[in-house]
Amino acid sequence: MQNIPSEYLEIDRKARVYMPYQDLARRPPAERVCDFGDVVIALDSDRAMLEASRCIHCPDPAPCMLACPCHNDIPSAMWLIEQGRYIEAANLYRETSSLPEICSRVCPHEQLCQGSCVLNKTHEPVLCGPLETFVTCYERKVQGVAIPVGEPSGKKVALIGAGPASMGCAEQLLKMGHEIAFFDSKPAPGGLLTYGIPNFKLSKEVIFCRWSDFEKAGATFTGNTTIGKDKTIDELFKEGYAAVFVAVGVGIDAKMETPGEDLAGVYEATDFLMRANTDPTLLPEHMRQRPEIGKRVVVIGGGDTASDCLRSALRLGAEEVTCVYRRTEKEMPGGRKDRQMAREEGARFRFLTQPVRFIAGEDGRLAAIECIEMQLGEPDAKGRRKPVPVEGSNFSIAVDTAIKALGYWPDPVIGETTPGLEVHDWGLISVQDKESGTTTRPGVFSAGDCVTGPDLVVTAMVGGRKAALSIDAYLRSQ
Ligand SMILES: Cc1cc2nc3c(=O)[nH]c(=O)nc-3n(C[C@H](O)[C@H](O)[C@H](O)COP(=O)(O)OP(=O)(O)OC[C@H]3O[C@@H](n4cnc5c(N)ncnc54)[C@H](O)[C@@H]3O)c2cc1C
Repeated sequence: MQNIPSEYLEIDRKARVYMPYQDLARRPPAERVCDFGDVVIALDSDRAMLEASRCIHCPDPAPCMLACPCHNDIPSAMWLIEQGRYIEAANLYRETSSLPEICSRVCPHEQLCQGSCVLNKTHEPVLCGPLETFVTCYERKVQGVAIPVGEPSGKKVALIGAGPASMGCAEQLLKMGHEIAFFDSKPAPGGLLTYGIPNFKLSKEVIFCRWSDFEKAGATFTGNTTIGKDKTIDELFKEGYAAVFVAVGVGIDAKMETPGEDLAGVYEATDFLMRANTDPTLLPEHMRQRPEIGKRVVVIGGGDTASDCLRSALRLGAEEVTCVYRRTEKEMPGGRKDRQMAREEGARFRFLTQPVRFIAGEDGRLAAIECIEMQLGEPDAKGRRKPVPVEGSNFSIAVDTAIKALGYWPDPVIGETTPGLEVHDWGLISVQDKESGTTTRPGVFSAGDCVTGPDLVVTAMVGGRKAALSIDAYLRSQ
C-alpha cells in the first residue's frame, strides 16, 4: 500500500466517514430504454476526487483488497485519486489487473470490493468501480495505454479463445517476451465481452480500445477458426507453438427439454443477445438479422443473463416483457442491481412459475407458453429449496417471443480432439490446481469459464494471469 502519513489518517478518519455521499448518476429509465448506450453517467474530475476522499484507508490488508479477485490496491488508488494523481492511480490498477477499464464496468462490485467496504456498516460504500473507470478513461485520453513488451524469448504461445481469460494470460506473456497468437471461432475478439455482455453495460468501443493495445504489442488474431474442428491442438504444436493456452469458455446454452422448444420465436439467450447487441458486421453471416420479437416477450431464468435479456428486449421495442422464474426472488442467482434496473425500465417478474410447453399459432410460430405454478419444497443438495409443481395449476400466457436464459455448458470438442487432455462434467477442462492452470497434457494450460464453469470476467482474467506464470516457467524449462 502507498505510504500515507498515519497521523493524517488518525485525525481524518472520522471526518471522512461523515463526508456527503452522492449515488452514481444513471440516465432516467424512460430515456435509456430507447437505445443501447451506457446507462451510467461517468464521474467527472471533481466528483471523482470527492468520492475517493470518502475512503477511510482501512489498515492493510483492507477488506476491499481482499474481496477483489485481483487484489487491486484500492485504498492507495483512492489516496492518489483524491489528490488528482489519476495516471498514477491507473498504473496501480494495471499492476494487478489486465482489464481494469472493463472490470471496473462489469464487475458485480456490490458483491466484491464495494460489498466489503467497512462504510457499509453505517453509510454507503466508496464507489470503487466507477472511480477505476474514471482513471483508466482519463489515462487513455491523456497519455494512451501500451502493454510493455519484454525481451523476445523466441517462444510462440497459441491462445485458444480471445475472451478475458486469454487477454489476462496474453498481457502477462507479452511482458515476459513471448510471442502471442490468438485463435477464436468467432469473427472478432473479446469472447463474451463482445458477444454476450450487452452494450448498455459495456460498450464495444471500450473492448476494442483495449484490444488494440494487444495488437500494438504484436499479438495476432485469427478469427472464424474453431480449434478441434478447423485444426487441432496437436497441429498447433506442429506449427511451432511451444505451449497452448485453452480458454474457450462455456458457450453451449442449456436446454429445457420442453415440448415446442425448437419453434420459431423461441430463442436461446446467447443467440438473442448476440443479434441484439452486436454490430452485424461482427457476426457470422447467418446471424446478421436483428431478432424480431413482437410485443410480448417472456424471458425464462433467474440469473444475470436473464436480466440482460429482459433489458435488451425492452430496448428492441417490446411492450410487455416478463421474467418467468420457478423459485421466488430470494432464490434468484442474478444480482439485485441488474434486476432493479430491469424493473425500473419496465420488466415484470412472475415467480414460482415453470413453462411446460411452447405452443405454436396457426403460422407455426410461438403463440403461447403453457406454464404450471410451483411451490417450494425440501432443500436440495446445495441447500436451495426445490421447486415442486402444484398439480392442476396449469395456465397459458400469450407471447410473441420466448428467450431461454437457463445457464451454459462447455463445448466438448477440445476434450474430444486432444489426446491426453482430461475433461470432466461434459467437457470442463481438468487442471491440477487453479493457481497453475496446468492440465494433464504437457504444454497445455487452461483457465477461465472452461475450467471453473460460468463465472465472472474478473475471475477468468485472474485465472489467465496465473496460468501465464506457469506457461513462462514451462517455456523456460524447455
Ligand atoms: C449474457 C452474459 C452476461 C454476462 N455479464 C457479466 C457481467 O456483467 N460481469 C461479469 O463479470 N461477468 C459477466 N458474464 C460472465 C463473463 O462474461 C464470463 O465469465 C467471461 O467472459 C469468461 O471468460 P473466458 O475468457 O473464460 O470465456 P469467454 O469470454 O466465453 O471466451 C471464450 C472464447 O473462446 C471461443 N471459443 C470457444 N470454443 C472455441 C474453439 N473450439 N476454438 C476457438 N475458439 C473457441 C469463443 O468464441 C469465445 O470467444 C456474463 C456472461 C453472459 C453469458
